[in-house]
Amino acid sequence: MSDQYTRLTRRLADADPDIAALIEAEGRRQHDKIRLIASENYVSQAVLDATGTVLTNKYSEGYAGRRYYEGQQIIDQIEEIAVARAKALFGVEHANVQPYSGSPANLAVYLAFMQPGDTVLGMSLPMGGHLTHGAKVSATGKWFNAVHYGVRRDTGRIDFDEVREVALRERPKLIVAGGTAIPRTVDFAAFAQIATEVGAILFADIAHIAGLVAGGAHPTPVGHAEVVSTTTHKTLRGPRGAMLMSTADRAKALDKAVFPGLQGGPHNHTTAAIAVALREAAQPDFGTYAHQIVANAKALAAAMTERGFDLVSGGTDNHLILVDLTGKEIGGKPAAKALDAAGIELNFNTVPFDTRKPMDPSGLRIGTAAVTTRGMTEKDMPQIAAWIDEAVTAAREGKEEALDGIAAQVRDFCAAFPIPGWSQD
Ligand SMILES: *Cc1c(COP(=O)(O)O)cnc(C)c1O
Repeated sequence: MSDQYTRLTRRLADADPDIAALIEAEGRRQHDKIRLIASENYVSQAVLDATGTVLTNKYSEGYAGRRYYEGQQIIDQIEEIAVARAKALFGVEHANVQPYSGSPANLAVYLAFMQPGDTVLGMSLPMGGHLTHGAKVSATGKWFNAVHYGVRRDTGRIDFDEVREVALRERPKLIVAGGTAIPRTVDFAAFAQIATEVGAILFADIAHIAGLVAGGAHPTPVGHAEVVSTTTHKTLRGPRGAMLMSTADRAKALDKAVFPGLQGGPHNHTTAAIAVALREAAQPDFGTYAHQIVANAKALAAAMTERGFDLVSGGTDNHLILVDLTGKEIGGKPAAKALDAAGIELNFNTVPFDTRKPMDPSGLRIGTAAVTTRGMTEKDMPQIAAWIDEAVTAAREGKEEALDGIAAQVRDFCAAFPIPGWSQD
């Protein structure tokens, strides 16, 4: 054997102890904390296995049967399985599993159906929309005429009067339904009615809720929206990636937009891992998982309300809770930093009609997909709410020394809930 070959076959720990040690440390961190970041999850060992394979070596520009590189005998089969599973799971006529992530997937939708300067109507970022729904700092806000809707001040829910009013006035080509900080069910039928009225294409972005939709814990946009995008790594619990789904008549434009419009070769190791995740999501126990995510979010919301936390819209229908800390007299950023030190990981977030700045807004965003994967249930949520309350109170009172104590309790608690891909020994 040549030295070169020996070098190539060394495992990570031997080949690069620096990075191996950091990955090990990240595994421990993910294990020892209560992860409440609403966009995160823990993927299965099978998904991890598929991701770290020789599929990463292959170039496959094009689509199955129509590639620009040779040697696609196996890759074509993998991508065809992923596509078939996506179509079956979501009940769609067309699926494209190649988008590198949610943002490029959304950009492909714009490329498919819009010209620069055309009008898009999406939820505004501070109200709960995503950057790619026309936010000023995003390409979607720079290259298109983005107009926005938000939520009602009194209910914290999407203001459909406003959606309709803006749609009638601005005549958007594309209406985006969905977001990153929406704690309530998205009424895709109501969006579809407005889209039909103004002749717009309805585009549902289910990045956050795809796992809930697949598991029957949130109504599907299919049948209402002609185009659906999703990430694969949030509640759907797959690798980092994305999918576009649509009716048959929108298929060609979407496929052309992804490749060659926006991307080169697909990430085949990710495609395989998406296929694995879609198979997992088609099992009956995934429906149980999806419903448990919602049950946990509702239990956590109730426990937090009991402790005097003010929740946007007063609660949750899905995996996500948006906390307004205004009444607690602490900003979202110092609260999130204190919680992280206490072993509870989440993110600061704007709340609708926020009076503070985006880099230190009034809210916290919480999600239950990851803790549910670890097997935590409703009975564990009051304890989590108690630790959140203790840490926020400690931060407000400047008693940072209390946070270490909470982190130690959290670590002990987490030891009972193993994660795939990392263990104590
Ligand atoms: C997460 C998210 C995206 C973007 O996904 P990335 O993979 O981070 O690019 C797009 N839309 C919504 C609604 C999201 O929540």
